[in-house]
Amino acid sequence: MSITENLKIVRERIADAAVRAGKDSENITLIAVTKTVDASVIKEAISAGVTDIGENYVQDALHKFTDIGHDVKWHMIGHLQTNKVKQVIPVFDLIQSVDSTSLANEIGKRSIAAGRTTRVLVEINISGEESKNGVEPDKALELCGQIAGIHGLELSGMMGIAPFTDDVSAIRKSFALLRRLWEKLPEENSRWLSMGMTSDFEIAIEEGSNMVRIGTAIFGARPARNR
Ligand SMILES: *Cc1c(COP(=O)(O)O)cnc(C)c1O
Repeated sequence: MSITENLKIVRERIADAAVRAGKDSENITLIAVTKTVDASVIKEAISAGVTDIGENYVQDALHKFTDIGHDVKWHMIGHLQTNKVKQVIPVFDLIQSVDSTSLANEIGKRSIAAGRTTRVLVEINISGEESKNGVEPDKALELCGQIAGIHGLELSGMMGIAPFTDDVSAIRKSFALLRRLWEKLPEENSRWLSMGMTSDFEIAIEEGSNMVRIGTAIFGARPARNR
């Protein structure tokens, strides 16, 4: 199936889930996750109406950015190393994977130097698994409080990845946990609740997500090592 057809199906599924959540799907942002997808395919997706893309790897994103530029909004959804922050500040509209004050401080500092304010989400580890990415839920609000006070960035919500399991109730529980944390943020810091991927975005929307990050359902399966 074509990207256009895949997008149509994804949008219909988002709309149906939004109805179940008592929401307007207009208020749910779809991010097309383009890791492993070439610039030419991204352009095809933009022609089909994609407005936001998510990238995981800095080098790939910088390479594609030279070709695509700001025709689309760029979201950093992968782990970001402090020493790469400077390069990515001009590219990303939203950095979703902030999980430490040191990373946030660097983003703030580099943003000020570039004369901008960078929007960020704090990534929370809701998987219940050991992970090098994301702050633990019991430390999330404290970290958000610290990050909200840093100049040069704007805390705009939270992001999380559910556990990789077929157990729907475990997935739902992890999304519900993220939503409860997110609801405790001050209003001005809680624009986005980024949760839901190809295998679980409908559950995420039912649990309150307003930003879903979808790759496989739009572009097809990735090579195994890039999952
Ligand atoms: C790859 C990735 C996605 C998209 O995953 P799919 O299962 O292909 O939809 C979403 N979020 C993050 C953080 C990712 O790394």
